[in-house]
Amino acid sequence: MIAEVIAIGSELVSGERLDTNSQWISQRLNALGIPVHFHTSLGDDLGENIAALGIAAGRARLVIATGGLGPTQDDLTRDALAAMAGVPLVEDAECLAAIEALFARRNRPMADRNRLQALLPQGATPLPNPIGTAPGIWMGSGSTVFVALPGVPYEMKRMFDEQVVPRLRECGAVGRVIVHRVINLFGRGESDIEAQAFDLTVRGRRPEVGITANDATISFRVSCDGANEAEALATMEPTLALIRQRFGDLVLGEGSTDVAAALVAQLERVDATLATAESCTGGLIARRITAIPGVSAWYLGGVVSYANHAKERLLDVPRTLLEAHGAVSPEVAEAMAVGIRSRLGADLGLSVTGVAGPSGGTPEKPVGLVWLGLATSAGVSTRKLELGPEQPRDVIQGRAAKHAMNWARLELLRR
Ligand code: AMP
Ligand code: MG
Repeated sequence: MIAEVIAIGSELVSGERLDTNSQWISQRLNALGIPVHFHTSLGDDLGENIAALGIAAGRARLVIATGGLGPTQDDLTRDALAAMAGVPLVEDAECLAAIEALFARRNRPMADRNRLQALLPQGATPLPNPIGTAPGIWMGSGSTVFVALPGVPYEMKRMFDEQVVPRLRECGAVGRVIVHRVINLFGRGESDIEAQAFDLTVRGRRPEVGITANDATISFRVSCDGANEAEALATMEPTLALIRQRFGDLVLGEGSTDVAAALVAQLERVDATLATAESCTGGLIARRITAIPGVSAWYLGGVVSYANHAKERLLDVPRTLLEAHGAVSPEVAEAMAVGIRSRLGADLGLSVTGVAGPSGGTPEKPVGLVWLGLATSAGVSTRKLELGPEQPRDVIQGRAAKHAMNWARLELLRR
């Protein structure tokens, strides 16, 4: 049973408000084993609404629309549904009584226009709204079931769970469940990773595997259907195992695990402590790590040593080193890592110094050049990143922070 979600409201297509209803409804439908193939968003225009519902009727067996059920002139979903189905609108006595009762409970007179909300396309079933004036609508037309829900997200969600899901079960629409799992990777480009995964991402494969990239973190998204969640998981497990095994060290973890969380997991595993010295990332690493609750046993702290003076005063970087090599140099990255490690008595000292741009680049040290330093009991080493002079400042900072954390993670992984 293919489903379509329709988001109705001029504020959605104008960009004033983000359509969050479609995402939420699609996640729910997917979990119920009802695949969503279409999202349509459109403004409050009767003709366009009738046309959109007609198109949906032709390609989906279940259509869930939100918005446009209010009492004002731009609320046209009732009219559009009736027109699309070729039936008149009729007043529903129970709906009217419920709306009147709601106003009575709030001790407010009911406006005439609210009466309109009791109108339903002939033959449709009202879906009671326990927390608002607009009842929802459940209506069969041709071979498609149309459901209209209020646009207000919290009303829509409650009505979907309480009114729509039981009806979908009753009419046998709820079939096999669809389960999704995400494995996150870092350290290689999207195309590189895809080249190693063509056999997995081939269309029509079961379980289905997709790749997405977000800020240099690459995610494998594995989806599989089954009679229930356990069965779907069992079917996808060999694929998940294959990805973990094939991409080894690149794998950060699953779900929402990103580089910082993966690093903290490694610190925890080997019970090691980390301290950071950041120049061009301005504390971003510290921010990402401390966004994770309960890390103080492993993350001791760090300094933002932006000016040379701060590198000298807070990290004991010798002035002669700064003068001889400049702040963005392997020598200074090394001294920063050693300095913070010894100042805070940490197992690992991690440092970042680079040119985040947009100005300050030179032919020898272009924007995007970053040096990382990592000091451990075994000594100190450095790594050079060339993140590209064309990248905006925040991207260079974000990538530098991720690469630095990932390097520390890989170092710990070997222990
Ligand atoms: P309506 O039911 O069209 O009167 O919308 C009521 C409220 O819900 C308005 O504040 C809308 O902006 C909001 N709303 C409507 N549709 C959506 C949607 N798809 N996602 C998020 N908010 C919405
Ligand atoms: Mg609206």
